[in-house]
Amino acid sequence: MEEVKCPYCREYVEINVDDHYEGTEECECPKCEKFFEVFAEAYISYSVSDKADCLNGGEHKWRQQIGSPDIHFKGKYLCNDCTATKTVESEIATKEEWDIYFGR
Ligand SMILES: [Zn+2]
Ligand SMILES: [Zn+2]
Repeated sequence: MEEVKCPYCREYVEINVDDHYEGTEECECPKCEKFFEVFAEAYISYSVSDKADCLNGGEHKWRQQIGSPDIHFKGKYLCNDCTATKTVESEIATKEEWDIYFGR
């Protein structure tokens, strides 16, 4: 038994799913009788992500994407708060930089 918060009236709603349930479950709030979706991932609690102001009209909080080889991620950014990504064309590694990377 898990509890989630109704997005409409903020009432705690009990949901009955098994531990290995994975996916989207439609729930009805017994208080306001509105339907909403609960996203479940196996072995992960039903956590709500932190506030993401960028999903509510604010700016994304861009950070450099990290990976290997790092030259591949030049000019690529991820948002701290959501799953948005962006590519800054002018920062992407040029052919010359790739050539240097490969030692050509
Ligand atoms: Zn409700
Ligand atoms: Zn964002």
